[in-house]
Amino acid sequence: MTEQKAEGDRPLFEGEWECSQCGAAITQLPFQPDAERPLFCRECHRKRRAEREVRKRSAMVQGSWTCVACGGDISELPFNPTRTDNLLCRQCHREKRMAQA
Ligand SMILES: [Zn+2]
Ligand SMILES: [Zn+2]
Repeated sequence: MTEQKAEGDRPLFEGEWECSQCGAAITQLPFQPDAERPLFCRECHRKRRAEREVRKRSAMVQGSWTCVACGGDISELPFNPTRTDNLLCRQCHREKRMAQA
C-alpha cells in the first residue's frame, strides 16, 4: 500500500506580488491575497509572527484580581486594568464572547 502525501491539498495562488516588508518577490500564496492587506514573504511572515508572540507574552500584566463572574483568581491580564469591578477570567471572557457572537 502506498500512501502519497497530497502536497497539492491546499490550492496555491500563483501570481506576482511583493513582500510589503523586504520587497522580495512572492509567486505563490496559500490564500487569495487581499489588496487591502500587506503581503509578506515566508521569511518576513515568520519573523512577524515570532515578534508578535514575544510582544504578546511580554505584554502580560501580573497581578492578583478576582473574576466578577465566577469569583476565580486572575493572575495575569493582557492589559493593565484601570478598574477591577469588571474583570473576567480567561474562561468567563471566552464564554461571554461566545455568547455575544
Ligand atoms: Zn519579506
Ligand atoms: Zn471567571
